[in-house]
Amino acid sequence: MFKKLSAVLLAASFVAAPVFANDHGEHGDAAVAQAFIKEIQADQSGYAGMKGAAFFQELSKGQKPRATVVTCSDSRVHTNMLDKTPEGDLFMIRNIGNQAATALGSVQYGVNHLNSSLLLIIGHSKCGAIAAAAASDSDKAKLEAPIQKELQTIGKVTADIEGVKTNVNNQVAAAKKEFADKVKAGHLIIVGAVYDFANDMKQGPGKLNVINVNGETDAAKITAALSAKAAASEHAHH
Ligand SMILES: [Zn+2]
Repeated sequence: MFKKLSAVLLAASFVAAPVFANDHGEHGDAAVAQAFIKEIQADQSGYAGMKGAAFFQELSKGQKPRATVVTCSDSRVHTNMLDKTPEGDLFMIRNIGNQAATALGSVQYGVNHLNSSLLLIIGHSKCGAIAAAAASDSDKAKLEAPIQKELQTIGKVTADIEGVKTNVNNQVAAAKKEFADKVKAGHLIIVGAVYDFANDMKQGPGKLNVINVNGETDAAKITAALSAKAAASEHAHH
């Protein structure tokens, strides 16, 4: 991606100034946007061609996503790191700091109306929202009011991987309260995880570490809870 971008910028320097040029350089430059939308269109038509008409006909019938997923908007976090076929299967909610509180209606829609069996809340290493939430009040006051408002619901965290974990655990706790009946009835499992591309948790770079299941944070109990549920669901299918 960076290589591609550099090549585009290099090429752009030899052509006349683009129509929408501004002074912002590499980021926030219309020339970058123009090149990127061409790249997106090419990738997208490749995707549409590869998937074929039958695939889209199937999608048109409706969706039954097995999971409602709340992740951070961070550009380093995407569904291809956890699901090869996310279409129709992952109901995605993304915002800064992977919060249920700032997008509760969307989460409710996925869980209550689309009946996802899994609510997956994913934080990640090097999260800017967590760092911003951990900043001093005077630093936060410099941010736009709507950003401040979205950060407020993160609560008290530290600006490191522990803060990321604290936030994920808080999100799971809030979701467990919100969907208490479904969890109790065994219709919903809430899983909190950290996508650790920085390997801050020393479990391997890029690993998705499950740190919380229905409020349980003990590693051995998490493993037991997930395999017991898997066994129960397998049993139900036989
Ligand atoms: Zn983030």
